[in-house]
Amino acid sequence: MDASEFRRHGHSLVEWIADYLEHSDRYPVLPRVAPGDLTRALPPHPPESAEPFDAVIGDFQRLIVPALTHWNHPGFFGYFAISASPPGVLAEFLSAALNQQAMLWKTSPAATELEGVTLGWLRQLVGLPPSFEGVIYDTASISTLHALAAAREAAIPYVRTQGVRGSSTQSPVRVYCSDQAHSSVDKAVILLGLGHDALCRVKSDERFCMSVAALREAVTRDRAAGVLPIAVVATVGTTSTTSADPVAAIAAVCEAEGLWLHVDAAYAGVAAMMPELRPMFAGWERADSVVINPHKWLFVPFDLSAFYTRRMDVLRQAFALVPEYLRTAEGSAGVPNLMDTGVQLGRRFRALKLWMVLRAYGAEGIRVLLAEHLRLANMFAAWVDVDPRFERLAPTPFSVVCFRAVPPSVPPSDLDVFNERLLDAVNATGEVFLSHTRLNGAVALRLAVGHMRTTETHVARAWELLREKAVGLVGL
Ligand SMILES: *Cc1c(COP(=O)(O)O)cnc(C)c1O
Repeated sequence: MDASEFRRHGHSLVEWIADYLEHSDRYPVLPRVAPGDLTRALPPHPPESAEPFDAVIGDFQRLIVPALTHWNHPGFFGYFAISASPPGVLAEFLSAALNQQAMLWKTSPAATELEGVTLGWLRQLVGLPPSFEGVIYDTASISTLHALAAAREAAIPYVRTQGVRGSSTQSPVRVYCSDQAHSSVDKAVILLGLGHDALCRVKSDERFCMSVAALREAVTRDRAAGVLPIAVVATVGTTSTTSADPVAAIAAVCEAEGLWLHVDAAYAGVAAMMPELRPMFAGWERADSVVINPHKWLFVPFDLSAFYTRRMDVLRQAFALVPEYLRTAEGSAGVPNLMDTGVQLGRRFRALKLWMVLRAYGAEGIRVLLAEHLRLANMFAAWVDVDPRFERLAPTPFSVVCFRAVPPSVPPSDLDVFNERLLDAVNATGEVFLSHTRLNGAVALRLAVGHMRTTETHVARAWELLREKAVGLVGL
């Protein structure tokens, strides 16, 4: 592809993308394809000879687009709604062109230093103190893995050289999180060789927040049994209900017991930009590490996870390893190299999109969007609360509402099946997409507001469809 061809395809793709971002609601949110449809539509063998790029783009539109789930749809209310904001999309385009590989300061001074600067900006916006140093990973799962690797490094002498079993600590170790914590905590303990049994899921209270009394009891019981507690993962904004663990009280336990405290604020962390929500985060400044995902609620295209720690030295101690061919004068002089702060060597230029999004919207513009999402979620929650055929199943501290239909004619034992069918019926319209969870054993529907183009009209339409389909199902 020569420069003139690149220009031609580039211009037409920019037109396509601009149109897509503006009118993503033309598509059904969930694609109308069955498993295997796309695979069967594509040739099983790679092309031997070059194909015209027009043909490739033609197939992209004909085959790939119909198999997309439209996370950019303003009616996307599933999981956590996210946004590929236009400035973020342009930044990704640039990032691909620049092809930076920021393992060393020398291999990309720009990516290395912009990462430090933008993470410093985000840290200030969410009110964490300057003692927190940041690094960008792809996802919160990987951030939490690094947090627990650092916790393991801090707690188990010689674990880096001798491994968990061979190390001087022969006793089994324990990591604590609530029964509402994300499955990435499980995966991290499995991957770190601690064994899945090393994870203790502490029970949560009726508001889905970790019980600190239960945490204290578990730690005491473990110590008495010769188990070594090493870390607690507290969550602000749990995945099912967005509940917030009492971080300050948990921090006090961790300080008294010498445990690493990691705060998983993957979804809710950016909401600390809102002064009225800041109290939900009280105590997180006492954590050893914190994760926030700008790709969730900060309008940065997937993927970008911001990891902060007050103990970057421990993380480096766990991961720094410099082979001769990567030795540089700057590195020897103490200039930080990103390859020393994690498991991967190569790193792409993710900071560029965070920088461009923060500048294009400003803190003010971001707060306006967040405030609107909070307003829309609370408006929906209020509709649920006043309709006797529906009930809310959890408090709504952020922008996610957990609820279910409770039509009087449906016996309690049939409510799970009824709500599953209701969800399928609503999602089948293609106008909106909601997901579900289970709370105290019951199926709960989740409406997560978070896409930048979602307006009151979309939320009202979701509510209308839910009521309409519920009536239809009861009538059957
Ligand atoms: C979404 C989420 C995660 C996982 O995020 P990834 O970036 O996809 O790994 C972890 N914890 C919480 C609380 C989340 O909401």
